Amino acid sequence: MFSGSEDSSLAEEGRRYPPISAISTGLAGRCPRCGDGHLFRGFLSVAPRCESCGLDFGFADSGDGPAVFVTLIAGFLVLGCALAVDIAYEPPIWIYLVIFAPLTLLVCLGLLRPLKGLLIASQYKNKAAPGRLGTP
Ligand SMILES: [Zn+2]
Repeated sequence: MFSGSEDSSLAEEGRRYPPISAISTGLAGRCPRCGDGHLFRGFLSVAPRCESCGLDFGFADSGDGPAVFVTLIAGFLVLGCALAVDIAYEPPIWIYLVIFAPLTLLVCLGLLRPLKGLLIASQYKNKAAPGRLGTP
């Protein structure tokens, strides 16, 4: 349960920053609260705070979630394409190395940042946090 001051600060935050889509802000790598500031400082490094609204990104902990989704999605796409090419053309083995090794790299790197942003934005929107024991 929230105490009175936390409840009023959440209501104040809700008035200043109307709810925005976690999907659009996360995929774009924007701040989940204001939608303007950048979520990332480097390719995958999360910025310490939003340069627009000042939200502290210390809560952001996506863990291995993005890597799991990227592995599953990229495996499905690249392996499906490789199987389709193999069935249709039966190319020599070097074709797989020339086409599908770079494709795997591109798909994985292309999906990793948007999915990390999406999971962090969902974490913010759903107020997900590690469990804590209650204070006596
Ligand atoms: Zn912000």
